[in-house]
Amino acid sequence: MWKDVEVTLEKVAVDQRKEKPSQDKLGFGVHFTDHMFLMKWDRENGWHDAKICPCRDFQLHPAAMVFHYGQAVFEGLKAYRGKDDQIFLFRPKDNLERMNESALRLCMPRFPVESVLKALKGLLYLEKGWIPAAEDTTLYIRPTMIGVEPAIGVRPSNEYYFYIILSPVGAYYKEGCKPTKIYVSDEHVRAVKGGVGHVKAACNYAASLYTSELARKFGCTQVLWLDGCEHKYIEEVGTSNIFFRIDDELITPPLEGTILPGLTRDSVIKLSNMWGIHVVERKISIGEVLEANRNGRLKEAFGTGTAAVISPIGELYYKEESCLINGGETGELSSRLFVELQAIQRGEVDDPFKWLVRCG
Ligand SMILES: *Cc1c(COP(=O)(O)O)cnc(C)c1O
Repeated sequence: MWKDVEVTLEKVAVDQRKEKPSQDKLGFGVHFTDHMFLMKWDRENGWHDAKICPCRDFQLHPAAMVFHYGQAVFEGLKAYRGKDDQIFLFRPKDNLERMNESALRLCMPRFPVESVLKALKGLLYLEKGWIPAAEDTTLYIRPTMIGVEPAIGVRPSNEYYFYIILSPVGAYYKEGCKPTKIYVSDEHVRAVKGGVGHVKAACNYAASLYTSELARKFGCTQVLWLDGCEHKYIEEVGTSNIFFRIDDELITPPLEGTILPGLTRDSVIKLSNMWGIHVVERKISIGEVLEANRNGRLKEAFGTGTAAVISPIGELYYKEESCLINGGETGELSSRLFVELQAIQRGEVDDPFKWLVRCG
């Protein structure tokens, strides 16, 4: 079906293009480029009407199924302007394949990864001028799929939109790799085994908002989620995976269906292994973490994700008690990973795992 589809191009007239925001005031996810990629799916035609077109509003019927039954999945990746003004993507196929897994879990159609990657490269070529060059700035890429058939009644939609929008962004945290204060929720949970916690489905984030607001009230930036069964084992932190360095081991919760299989998580595991650090994927309870911290065995803790890359955890707030990790400072391994991953992403150092895709 896809093979018959050509990606058409509808450009915004040059004098209609937006003014680009200044690179030192980008913020995160507030500016969008002139163009997007869009394609449609229905039962009869499969994927069709693929185009790179102006990034404009959709007209959807109020009964569009995404509004009621939440069929929405997305991805987050970045384009980097690196060495010699080259543009790089970091493991883009892994993101798109993960999106297909998300789609499958929500009874949405899968899409051809290679073709979409090609379209993304085309879009980036057109929007190259939007990829910022200043330190710590990138172009955030948000592929999204939604069910748009106007109908009431719980069942999979028969019509979908797949689109990719682009947003130039600054550093997630202004100070770069800055330690955060984290709220450990012993009341709410993010996911349970058998649920959808392992896919990037929009419903997961809607379900997390209430607890995130609660965290903010305690001066925390993110929620550390515990398991849905015993409220005891660590799962992940906000929209990041989590790592603890205890003694000489790097420990991270295993992928058992309730946490997102992060690409940054996977990259951190591979880099650390390469550096001779012993990485263990195992269950770890909040009790074990707090005790290791009291005994001085917990050296550092950090979150991993595309948005912030590495985000050190300076403090945990659990059951109305605060505890500092590593004196509230950024740990040595956190810094090393942050620097190395960013250098790889910008093509400044060797790319031992062939993660980078050059696109112009
Ligand atoms: C996106 C996301 C991550 C991080 O995944 P990356 O591929 O490293 O960006 C972790 N946890 C959740 C819940 C996420 O949505």
